[in-house]
Amino acid sequence: MFNWFRQWKRRRTLRDRPILDVDWNATLERVPLVKALSVDEQARLRAMATWFLDEKDFYAAGDLDLTHPMMLTISAQACLPVLDLGYHWLDGWYSIYVYPGHFRTRREYRDQHGIMQSDHRRLAGEAHSAGGIVLSWNDVVDHVAVDDDGDNVIIHEIAHKLDMRNGHADGFPPLRRGMDHGQWSRAMREAYDHLNRGVRRGDPEIDPYAATEPAEFFAVTSEYFFEAPQTLQRVYPEVYRQLHRFYRGNIAA
Ligand SMILES: [Zn+2]
Repeated sequence: MFNWFRQWKRRRTLRDRPILDVDWNATLERVPLVKALSVDEQARLRAMATWFLDEKDFYAAGDLDLTHPMMLTISAQACLPVLDLGYHWLDGWYSIYVYPGHFRTRREYRDQHGIMQSDHRRLAGEAHSAGGIVLSWNDVVDHVAVDDDGDNVIIHEIAHKLDMRNGHADGFPPLRRGMDHGQWSRAMREAYDHLNRGVRRGDPEIDPYAATEPAEFFAVTSEYFFEAPQTLQRVYPEVYRQLHRFYRGNIAA
């Protein structure tokens, strides 16, 4: 779709299918993370959430009764990571499947002998490189009310989608113009190695799931960046600075 057409369409969406005040105010009450934003940030997020609701396809999976307030809760948080990056960072994919709770997926992979294997996993969320995201509603609800635990399945999966904009999720999303690729890699690798040593000793300073692979390190530290920035700044200040440049577009104080 041409840019001018997309912009015209999005202006019309804001005019013809806005989020009503009563619905937006209820969303702010449900999501403290969004309520804590400035008035200007809330207004920009509201426009993005309007487009997200309008353009993405929500699917209820299992026996979930997916309501409008639930879709708003998801939309507002899904747009949070791109508030300063720009809404177009969420372009190119459409589907959001929401399960009532953890869901089972079958994973196909090649083992160390080169033989194809498969296993089943129970997940709270998943992002597909060729598609959208899958969420467990229970996990959305579990973490939405607590805005400083560094745990947010929606931000996690959106971070994977941003990471996938330049290929596989590998912890290296396309960086903003002016960002130094070497500095990003060094900050992430040193912190990732440090966390892995902490996990082996049994005292990781952030969620040890971040130590499983670089893509998870980026997704988990993104959760901390939005939900528990002080923790991330204290434990991995260089990672905090890089994420600040990436998500906010300027250098962290
Ligand atoms: Zn992940």
